[in-house]
Order: sequence, then C-alpha cells, then structure tokens
Amino acid sequence: MQSKDLLQLTEQFGSPLYVYDAEKIKSQYNRLTKAFSKVEKLRINYAMKALSNVAILQLLKEMGSGLDTVSIQEVLLGLHAGYDPEKIFYTPNGVSLEEIEEVNAMGVQINIDNLSILEQFGAKHPNVPVCIRINPHVMAGGNTNISVGHIDSKFGISIHQLPHLVRIVENTKMNIVGIHMHTGSDILDIEVFLYAAEILFDAAKNFKNLEFLDFGSGFKVPYKKDDIETDIEELGKKLSKRFNAFCTEYGKELTLIFEPGKFLVSEAGQFLVKVNVIKQTTSTVFAGIDSGFNHLIRPMLYGSQHHIENISNPKGKERFYSVVGYICETDTFANNRRIPEIKEGDILSFRNAGAYCYSMASNYNSRYKPAEVLWMNGQGHLIRAHETFEDLLKNQIPLPLAEKV
Ligand SMILES: *Cc1c(COP(=O)(O)O)cnc(C)c1O
Repeated sequence: MQSKDLLQLTEQFGSPLYVYDAEKIKSQYNRLTKAFSKVEKLRINYAMKALSNVAILQLLKEMGSGLDTVSIQEVLLGLHAGYDPEKIFYTPNGVSLEEIEEVNAMGVQINIDNLSILEQFGAKHPNVPVCIRINPHVMAGGNTNISVGHIDSKFGISIHQLPHLVRIVENTKMNIVGIHMHTGSDILDIEVFLYAAEILFDAAKNFKNLEFLDFGSGFKVPYKKDDIETDIEELGKKLSKRFNAFCTEYGKELTLIFEPGKFLVSEAGQFLVKVNVIKQTTSTVFAGIDSGFNHLIRPMLYGSQHHIENISNPKGKERFYSVVGYICETDTFANNRRIPEIKEGDILSFRNAGAYCYSMASNYNSRYKPAEVLWMNGQGHLIRAHETFEDLLKNQIPLPLAEKV
C-alpha cells in the first residue's frame, strides 16, 4: 500500500480509518506454514480476538486457517463467517460450565483451563473429546501484562497440579485429546519457548489418546525500528525436529497447532487519522488528532509504541511532536516523537494497527467507532461502515417523555 492509496482511501471513506493489507496477512500465514513444513500435520488457528471482522475471518478461512476463539460470541462470529465447527477451537478462561457446554454442543473443540470445571465437565460428559490448558510457568516476556505463564497467572492449570489433573481424568474416564499452552505475548528467546515445550511434552506422556499438541502463540512482531522479533524460521527448524521426535516416542503422528493473532494481522494494519490542531505550548508541540484511546488504546494501556508516519508530508523536515487524542483525559499516542513536519489537516498513519486495535475500540466520549477497509488486489473494500448516531442509541431505553424525573 502506497501513501497515495492511503490518502485516497481517507478521501473516499473519511478519517479516522482502519486499513488492512490482505497480501501481508497472506504472506505472514505462508511464512508460518513454511517454517513448519517438516511437520506432517500442522494446523494454524487464527486467534480472532486480535481482529474479529468477519471479512478478515473469511480471508483467513480461504487460506486454510482454523480459528481460536475465547468466547461463545467469537464462536458465533466464526460460524457466521463460514467456518466448520471442527475448525474452531474454544480457549476461554474463567467462563461458566454452561457456556462451555453450549459451545461443545455446537461441535467446537473445547479447551478447559481449570480443575474445578474439568471435573464437573468430565463427570457429566465423559465421552466428549477435551483439550486441557497447562500453565508451564515459564516467563515469556519481561512485561507481566502480557506474560501469562508465570506463577501468579490466572491462566491454565498449573503444571504442579499435574497429579491432581491425572486423577480427575482417571476418575471421570474423560477423553483428553489435546494439551495446550499459551505462555504470553512475546517470545523473545526461542530457547525459553523450547523449554516450555519440553514441559508440555512431559505432561503429554500422561495421556494416551492425544491427537494434538497446541503451542498457543506469543510470536513477537517488530513495532519500531530495530525491534526484536521472534525468529519464526529458527523456531520452526528447532521445534519441528523436536516435535517429530516426540511423535515417534509417543507412537503416533500428532497434529501441531499454533494460534497466532498478532503475528498474522498486526503489521497488515494501519490506522489513518487527520490532524485537527497543532498546539504549541511552552514545553512541547502537540499534534491533536481526530481520534483517541477510544479507537486505539494500546499506547495508553500497555505503553505500546506504534510507529507514526506523516503520509501527507513524508519527506518533510523532522520535528519533535507529542501526538495526542481528542478524549477528555490524558490520551497520548507518542511523546516527543520525531515526525516529518505536521500541518493541520495532514493524515498520519499508525503502523502495526491490525492486532488489538479495532477489536479493543469503544464508544468512550460518545464517539463513533471508525470504518474498516480491506486492501486487496489494488483496491480498498469497505468491510465495516463507520458508526452513526443510531448506533449510539441502539439498546438505550429513554424514559417516557411525559414522566417528570
Ligand atoms: C490472545 C491469545 C492468542 C493470540 O496471541 P497473540 O499474541 O496475538 O498471537 C492465542 N491463544 C490464546 C489462548 C489467546 O488468548
């Protein structure tokens, strides 16, 4: 996608606007499958919470992807997008037994992440094939917001509870077909990931009817220049070899599953905004844009750095800016960032806006959520219209006008 295309899209569909590049999603998908081409049975389940637009789900389905879902509503969206139930995994945490039963009745593979529900489910439905989520307690990144494998994490069944887990499975005679782990969002060190994988292999030996091992995700993509990213090719080489050896040892060709979100869609996305105002103060120059953390919350929530380009003036002289939103509280996208000179009316692009951006958007300050466009074969396809006043009123029930409050 070139700047002139992006500028044309904001002319056509208005700003702010999310734009996703179908080619980039495809190339990431192919890169991952290629890295694991030595594994006979490989399955990619797209973690749709990253970006849940139905058109994106359809695109990934065409490529052969399955789906990883974390709520019954995501399951419904996946079915709506045309996925067969067998291609959908349900990997929630902290949900009710009722919801798990409801999803199971749809023919979707369920994954249980605590002993209490496992025991209740196993006692009621001993014949249902179940996957269990193990927490190997391996720290994937340095940031506790995004590392879910550590000892105080709420995710998964602790590996230290394996004896209790095995006893529940024996007592209920339930059918465990898969073991899952998802250690967090950043695999920076492949050796750490392989170490966690060893824990999963060890745990797997306790179950005789396995069909798959699910290694979750955590592939890191670069957000800024010189950022570290997961070396997928290296991971593919090492884990494939180890996985194949394990299958031989286990005596069965198991399926290797990954469930990437960010890796598939993050870099494909750009968020385009217009600069409303340049405001000079005694200490800084603010560029105030026509959006805020209602549309892109990652910088405020996680301190994430999204690279910002001035696509209206890409060759301009660089100056320092604080890029801020229009929400009525602190709403900073970038502090003291070097950006080619910005004028009011310029269009800025936030990079890496495919994952956890639109899907975390809200209506805070009663703003509309923006439109989404899929760029495919040199053309922009509108895949979600921006909201209107009707959307803000939907489901609201005003008091009868005559009534005095
Ligand atoms: C969020 C999530 C993923 C995807 O994580 P990414 O970092 O976006 O790749 C995978 N599996 C589970 C269970 C998740 O909750």
